[in-house]
Amino acid sequence: MAVRNATIAVDFDGTVVTHAYPHIGMDAGAVPVLRELVRNDCRLILLTMRSGHLLDDAVRWFRERDIPLYAVNDNPTQHAWSSSPKVHADLYIDDSALGCPIRFMEGVSRAVADWQEIRRQLVRDGYLD
Ligand SMILES: [Mg+2]
Repeated sequence: MAVRNATIAVDFDGTVVTHAYPHIGMDAGAVPVLRELVRNDCRLILLTMRSGHLLDDAVRWFRERDIPLYAVNDNPTQHAWSSSPKVHADLYIDDSALGCPIRFMEGVSRAVADWQEIRRQLVRDGYLD
């Protein structure tokens, strides 16, 4: 069963890029998977602790890769039904989340999200075909 129109919150550092804060880390392999999600009518929310110009850097990372963001650190539709400060999403992809598949990349000391395994789980759970 395919999940359509899902809102998916995606962390930045350690998730779509390797940990290098305040710099931008290496591509962790998220780009093709994020594009697939967008093609499947998923809405991506960038959910990150970054702020100010460091947040701008992260937003630019998505723009430069033609990955449209539905929102940044916000879910604009939730304000109609909730006053909670928590950003609502159907799914959260975050290297710090319990159960998020992680791996080690050459030359990087901290683990990063494993997008091959994340993609497998997204297929398993119906977000991708
Ligand atoms: Mg992170």
